[in-house]
Amino acid sequence: MKIKAINGFKDILPDEAVRWQYMEGVARDIFERFGAREIRLPILEKTELFARSIGEATDIVEKEMYTFPDKGITMRPEGTASLLRAFIEHGLHVQQPVQRLYTIGPMFRHERPQKGRLRQFHQMDVEVIGASEPRVDAELIAMGRMLLDELGISASLEINSLGCPECRPGFRRQLVSFLKERRDRLCRDCDRRIDTNPLRVLDCKNPDCRSQVQDAPSILDALCGPCDDHFAHVCRNLEALGVAYSVNRFMVRGLDYYTRTTFEFITGDLGAQAAIGAGGRYDGLIEQLGGPALPGIGFAMGMERIALLMEQQEVARPGPRMDLFVAALGEKAAGHAFPLVHQLRRQGLKVAMDHSGRSLKAQMKQAGRVNAAHTLIIGDNELQQQEAILRNMETREQETVPLQGTVTEQAHSLARRVRDNS
Ligand SMILES: [Zn+2]
Ligand SMILES: [Zn+2]
Repeated sequence: MKIKAINGFKDILPDEAVRWQYMEGVARDIFERFGAREIRLPILEKTELFARSIGEATDIVEKEMYTFPDKGITMRPEGTASLLRAFIEHGLHVQQPVQRLYTIGPMFRHERPQKGRLRQFHQMDVEVIGASEPRVDAELIAMGRMLLDELGISASLEINSLGCPECRPGFRRQLVSFLKERRDRLCRDCDRRIDTNPLRVLDCKNPDCRSQVQDAPSILDALCGPCDDHFAHVCRNLEALGVAYSVNRFMVRGLDYYTRTTFEFITGDLGAQAAIGAGGRYDGLIEQLGGPALPGIGFAMGMERIALLMEQQEVARPGPRMDLFVAALGEKAAGHAFPLVHQLRRQGLKVAMDHSGRSLKAQMKQAGRVNAAHTLIIGDNELQQQEAILRNMETREQETVPLQGTVTEQAHSLARRVRDNS
C-alpha cells in the first residue's frame, strides 16, 4: 500500500514551486517598497488566542480549527492573531510608533477541500499597526492592488465599512429584528446565526438567504459620524491613488474583530466568484489581546488561488533552468570535468553533470531534460588539445573553447563565455 498525502494537504511540485518562488519574490519586494518588515511566527499557538481574537461564535473557531484539546493549543487558522500576539509580547510599538509587518506561511482550517481551498493553505499577510488615518487604509489597499497587478492577475476590489462599537450594536439590533421576521425562509445556519453572528447572514451564499437580505438595512446608513467620515475619506484616497473599487454593503467578513474598513479582491476566473485576498481594520483588537490601545489594519492574500491564476494566465513560466550541462565522455574526461563543475558552481552558475558514463546522445538528451541553456562537451581528444566544445542549446551554434591554466582559471573563462552567450 502506497502512503498518500492527507485529504486537503497538497504537495507543491518543482514546476509549481517556480511560480510560488516568483510570487513570494514579487510580494516581498512590494511589501518592502512600502516599508514593511518580515516577521516569522510559529504555527502552534494557545487556543485562547484565536477564541479571543477571531471570536467564539465564528465558523473558524466553532468548527474549523485543528486543536489539540488536551494541550490547549491550536494550529493557526490565520495570521493576524499570531502576529499581534508577537507584537504585544515583544513590545514592538516601543521601538517605532507605526509598525508595518508582513509574514508569509501556512495556515490550517478543517474545511471541505475544493478548488483553490485546502486544509493547509498559505497566506501572505501584511499589517500596519499604530495608525488610524484613512490614508493608511487606502495605502494598504493600494499595496494589495499593486501586488496583484505585478503578478498579472486581474481582480475587482470591493470595500465596505463595518462601523465601530459606537454604531454597530444599533445596526445589529436593526438587522436582527429584520431577520427574525424572515427566520423561516433562511437556511439552517443563518437561523442559528441570527442569535450568534447576525451580520454573517448578509454574506450567506445560499440563494434563498441572498434574496431575503436584498432589502435588509444597510450598515452604511447606520454609521456614526466619525465612521461615516472615515469611510468617505478612504474612498476619496483610493481615488487619489487611481485604485478602482465598488462598495458592497453585504461584505461582512467571517471574523469578529473587524471595525470600519473591510475589503476583498475578487476574481471570477476560478469558476465561481472567489476572494483571492481580503482584509480590514481591527481597532480595539490589540487592546482586547492585552496590548496597548493601538489601531491596526491588514490583509491576507491566498497563495493557492494566486498560484492557480498565475498558471491559467501563464505568468512566470519556467525559462532555462540550468546554465550549463557538462557532458564528459570517458573516465578521463569525467575526472577533469568533476572539479571544473564544482568551480563553475562557485562562480555562480547552475551546472549539471552526468556521473554514470552515458553515451553522448544520452547525455544530450539529459541536457534537454534539465532545460540547460548550454552544453559543454569534453572528450578524450579535446582534453588532449586542452579544449572543449561549447554548444548553445537554443541556437545550436557550437564553438571550441580553451581549457587552459588551473581549474579555477578554466572555470573563470568558461563562466564569462556562458554569461556573454546568454
Ligand atoms: Zn462608528
Ligand atoms: Zn443562509
